[in-house]
Amino acid sequence: MLSKFNIQDRVRLLNQGIEGLGDVIYWMSRDCRLQDNAALLFAQSIAIAKKRHLRIVFDAQFAGESPRQQGFLLQGLQELAVDCKEFNLSCEFLYGRNAIPLVEFTKLNKVCCVVTDFDPLKFHQSRKHDFCKSSTVPVYEVDAHNIVPLWFASSKLEFAAYTIRPKITKLLPIYLTEIPELLIHPYGTAEIASIENQSDGGNELKSGESQAKIKLSQFIESKLDAYDELRNDPSLNFQSGLSPYLHFGMISAQRVALEVRKIDVNPDSKAAFLEELIIRKELSDNFCYYNPNYYNFNGFHSWAQSTLNEHRHDPREYLYSLEQFENAETHDKYWNAAQREMMITGKMHGYMRMYWAKKILEWTRSPEEALDYAIILNDKYSLDGRDPNGYTGIAWSIGGVHDRAWSERPVFGKIRFMNDSGLKRKFDIEKYVENIKLLQNENNNIGNSVHSLFGGL
Ligand SMILES: Cc1cc2nc3c(=O)[nH]c(=O)nc-3n(C[C@H](O)[C@H](O)[C@H](O)COP(=O)(O)OP(=O)(O)OC[C@H]3O[C@@H](n4cnc5c(N)ncnc54)[C@H](O)[C@@H]3O)c2cc1C
Repeated sequence: MLSKFNIQDRVRLLNQGIEGLGDVIYWMSRDCRLQDNAALLFAQSIAIAKKRHLRIVFDAQFAGESPRQQGFLLQGLQELAVDCKEFNLSCEFLYGRNAIPLVEFTKLNKVCCVVTDFDPLKFHQSRKHDFCKSSTVPVYEVDAHNIVPLWFASSKLEFAAYTIRPKITKLLPIYLTEIPELLIHPYGTAEIASIENQSDGGNELKSGESQAKIKLSQFIESKLDAYDELRNDPSLNFQSGLSPYLHFGMISAQRVALEVRKIDVNPDSKAAFLEELIIRKELSDNFCYYNPNYYNFNGFHSWAQSTLNEHRHDPREYLYSLEQFENAETHDKYWNAAQREMMITGKMHGYMRMYWAKKILEWTRSPEEALDYAIILNDKYSLDGRDPNGYTGIAWSIGGVHDRAWSERPVFGKIRFMNDSGLKRKFDIEKYVENIKLLQNENNNIGNSVHSLFGGL
């Protein structure tokens, strides 16, 4: 029997407070969509029970987002604002670098309560904490991003995929169920703020909830069947390309999983895709939420810290500055192609991401420097950057997080090693380099557009 979609389990009360007489607020942050959004559904259920209007407030702090990421987000929010009207929901934007504008907004509008979505990253957790300290109304947090709410999946830092997998798998029949539809809101009248998007997106990926759905259908139709066999090959393009949309919450992982489950394709491909989308993705949230050092050396397991310390002073064959990495000026054409792919498209092939980060460890003075460089570049150029998956993927590559010890070698110690012979043996990696060259030629304005996107290198 199918379980009913359970919203209550996804909700935590962050602040007791006393309800005001005004509207219910959904403080949207990580999950920028109207459909399949448990936080919005929960906010709507309160608003309907109390016969209040429902207002979506997005506080655009843009702390650290690059113009490329801002452009993608704002384009998606423009679509969202238009759709809000259809559902009689107000949509507003607050600007500021801390919780103060939102605190003032709730006071001024005597809001009933605030519902927000969940994000494990430090910056978002501390914003929520600051907001709750000053807020007098109830504040609820809803995990609208993970299929199994993070706090139910596990209450502790998990060691690896094999430790979290059985926990999530056991809970999937309860949580991976059809999601109720958003209702046309019966109370109040929608007011929609206009959103300016001045970023020069160039020929960047199109953003928004409708594009995310198109991307999902295209993937299901033309790539899912061969995903198991071909997803790792950088010369082909058999990944879903959904990560920018998942990162900004323009599509829910739950919707993706439900649609993929329905389709009759190669079962190994289906299983491989759901492993990435559910287990690996939710493991990343677990790592960032329960490990306060998710972005630094202290976040690595002790075996990894010891082995990297033992090899700290090993001579490096090549050493590059951040600028040389950024400009794709290493001696390695495969690495340079991967860096260019990320700069041109806003996304690097998943297999190359591992190679890319591991080589940064090999060609920098210390694991700390390698981590910093990898995070800076990934967060700056990847549309899906600044995400738990990114911090965890980098910690996996450089610090063996969720991995095991391998045979020992210079610089890496017992951290898993990758080299270009592996790329040549497994794939037509020259074709990948050619593909990136073609992309660069097609984008003959790329020098200018990259320059304008990032204010120079
Ligand atoms: C060094 C490094 C940096 C990374 N940086 C990011 C990042 O900034 N943002 C990001 O979303 N992912 C990151 N990843 C994880 C992974 O490479 C990407 O999620 C994936 O390549 C995104 O492309 P896709 O959506 O086409 O993936 P698909 O293969 O189609 O997978 C579907 C979804 O499953 C999830 N997923 C897939 N692989 C992983 C993984 N290894 N760990 C966690 N979740 C996964 C993602 O949500 C992805 O969108 C990084 C990995 C490494 C090794």
